Amino acid sequence: MSYRDADHDHEQEQQMLDAIEKWLARDVRPHVLRLEHADEYPSEMVEQMKEMGLFGATISTTYGGLGLKAGTYAKIVEKISTTWMSLTGIFNSHLIMAACVERKGTEAQKLHYLPKFATGEIRGGLALTEPDAGTDLQGIKMRARKDGDDYVINGTKTWISNGIEGSCFALLVKTDAGAEPAHKGMSCFIAEKGPGFTVSKKLEKLGYKGIDSAELIFQDYRIPASKLIGGQEGRGLQTALGGLELGRINVAARGCGVAAAALQDSLKYAQIRHTFGKPIAEHQAIQLKLGEMATRLQAARLLTYDAARIYDKGERCDMEAGMAKYFASEAALENATECLRIHGGYGYSKEYHAERYYRDAPLMCIGEGTNEMQRLIIARHMLAMHPV
Ligand SMILES: Cc1cc2nc3c(=O)[nH]c(=O)nc-3n(C[C@H](O)[C@H](O)[C@H](O)COP(=O)(O)OP(=O)(O)OC[C@H]3O[C@@H](n4cnc5c(N)ncnc54)[C@H](O)[C@@H]3O)c2cc1C
Repeated sequence: MSYRDADHDHEQEQQMLDAIEKWLARDVRPHVLRLEHADEYPSEMVEQMKEMGLFGATISTTYGGLGLKAGTYAKIVEKISTTWMSLTGIFNSHLIMAACVERKGTEAQKLHYLPKFATGEIRGGLALTEPDAGTDLQGIKMRARKDGDDYVINGTKTWISNGIEGSCFALLVKTDAGAEPAHKGMSCFIAEKGPGFTVSKKLEKLGYKGIDSAELIFQDYRIPASKLIGGQEGRGLQTALGGLELGRINVAARGCGVAAAALQDSLKYAQIRHTFGKPIAEHQAIQLKLGEMATRLQAARLLTYDAARIYDKGERCDMEAGMAKYFASEAALENATECLRIHGGYGYSKEYHAERYYRDAPLMCIGEGTNEMQRLIIARHMLAMHPV
């Protein structure tokens, strides 16, 4: 890439970030507390995100998306999460579904779906988890049985983000339940809502309010074979896991956003609140917290940008995305806890944002692969790179 190209990219990225900052200040920040505590779906903001092209952020321009690099996308996600993390979940799992189709789909699937995903006309997400299988996806029970030119699907998915408001999901199933190893019998479909596909319940959560998480039931759901991603059975797990690299960069960026919000609020509050005749910011115990919070945030950002850089080169980045996701989500949790402490009793009040960061942060340690699993992935890569 020439310096001129790099300058142009940087300028475009800054313009996008400036536009998002204006939108957050005008249309989001004034409403967050109300929507969060009412657990209300932010329909108006979703329309505004459509207009800004966010539902096509990482879809390539060939298919009508913005074609943003993962690095720019991560900065956008961080910025929005600094204001309200929930909003990013509405387009993140949608974009993972789109990435599955763009990376592994047939040309016909790309031409049909990607432009509609990019405008937000069709929105949805990723349906992998089941009541008895989350981390161990090879243990899923959902079955797809071939019947002429169709498949017939039965089973239950749970914790599916956008499950109520979305209409289309990348659905992981077993097409051959007896396959050894199990992943060879797994396939991924583009499943649109229709007869046999129902939302059975909205799931109530600790945090991550506003966005819908739901249980989905498939009962003799008939789907044409042309909706099998890539047109070949047995590639479903690979398809889903490939999409999760972008998902982990997104979760890492969300972690940076929450960690940054917790730091910003703490810096402000510590200078306003007085005890023993001076701002608490002048007490060394508070300064130690602020110093640690700022350092954690900076380290989380650097790991996130590094993973995004490798993703943008088109290389596999399981380890780097895992490191970023693990570190940034733990940073969010630790910064949120410190923010709550710095706010004293007000940290526990619903009038402030501190309690929201404290409820939102743990999700990032669980979603897109738990932090236990991230550490195992990192260790396995390190062992493979350093054999004795
Ligand atoms: C708010 C929310 C939104 C979500 N959105 C989606 C979505 O849109 N789509 C979707 O498909 N899923 C979604 N999920 C599900 C999420 O991805 C899973 O919850 C997550 O992968 C963990 O799976 P599990 O809950 O089944 O836990 P389990 O797999 O049962 O794990 C339980 C515990 O055991 C640990 N563990 C498991 N195996 C090992 C091992 N081998 N070694 C060490 N420790 C291990 C885990 O780290 C964890 O601590 C969402 C979850 C939440 C809470």
